[in-house]
Amino acid sequence: MNDSPRFSSAVRSMLQLKQEVQLFLRCTVRDGSRASFWFDYWTELGPLHLLFGTSGPRSLRIPLTATVSQAVSNGHWNLPPACSEIAETLQIILSTMPVPSAANSGDVYLWRNQSGGFGPSFSSRVTWERIRDHSPLVDWYKVVWFKEEIPRCSFLSWTAFLGRLPTRDRLISWGLSVQPGCVLCSVADESISHLFFHCSFAAATWTRFCGRYMATPPASLAAIVQLCHQMQGPQAPLAVAVLKLLSQVIIYSLWRERNGRIFQGMSSTQEAFFRVVDRAMRDRLLSLSRTTASTPSPSLLELYFWFISPYS
Ligand SMILES: [Zn+2]
Repeated sequence: MNDSPRFSSAVRSMLQLKQEVQLFLRCTVRDGSRASFWFDYWTELGPLHLLFGTSGPRSLRIPLTATVSQAVSNGHWNLPPACSEIAETLQIILSTMPVPSAANSGDVYLWRNQSGGFGPSFSSRVTWERIRDHSPLVDWYKVVWFKEEIPRCSFLSWTAFLGRLPTRDRLISWGLSVQPGCVLCSVADESISHLFFHCSFAAATWTRFCGRYMATPPASLAAIVQLCHQMQGPQAPLAVAVLKLLSQVIIYSLWRERNGRIFQGMSSTQEAFFRVVDRAMRDRLLSLSRTTASTPSPSLLELYFWFISPYS
């Protein structure tokens, strides 16, 4: 449309603006009784109120609330002589369009579809894919978002993977005056890496839950991703699901323990903390077991008991 020689550069630039605004909904005019003359995208010019501005209704002598059928009289478009380039452009375009008629069926609204054309049904997925900014896939997204997740734990893990948690090293980098030390061990400065992996409190937790199949606790978020990718065998998909859930529960619980110590002056013993993690795992896996009771393979809860839980 913008390449058409009949449009001046000024009109083309305005058309570009309107295309960005009205990318997803078009109206096919038939009887013109429903389509708004000024606000619907029913000509290739887009919504006419954006093109003509506030003076449009006066210059075309068509009310702001008019339907397209109100621009028709005796089977012909009924507009005053064009007094501007835009009005002239509109009249040229209308001359190529069928004149709305009461003999036709009603006007039809069409939504942008997957192929880029327009169809009668609306898809939120297609629309979202078209309006969002696409970024390269990260190798950790399946470790953060998965069917068995606990949403609050996934959200916190996602924030950790993005490096956006307000750990004390970040607060200090923003110029805030806070103590740098880790409240879990009091022997090192707090960072995501320390809080979730290198802290003795965290390392003891990883060892307690993963010690049966991990020679050493994971040293980073990337190490968890790598471990999930490396798991093999017939039970691997289920085992990976349990491991992902466990990782998120540990990270979430560590963050909660850290916040409890800073903001509420409450702290758990290491043993009590283990129980918190174990309880969260059992609660979640038990709820999943109920929904997959007919599955012949071991349930996630059974896998957790067999390979991971220190309390089975
Ligand atoms: Zn620490």
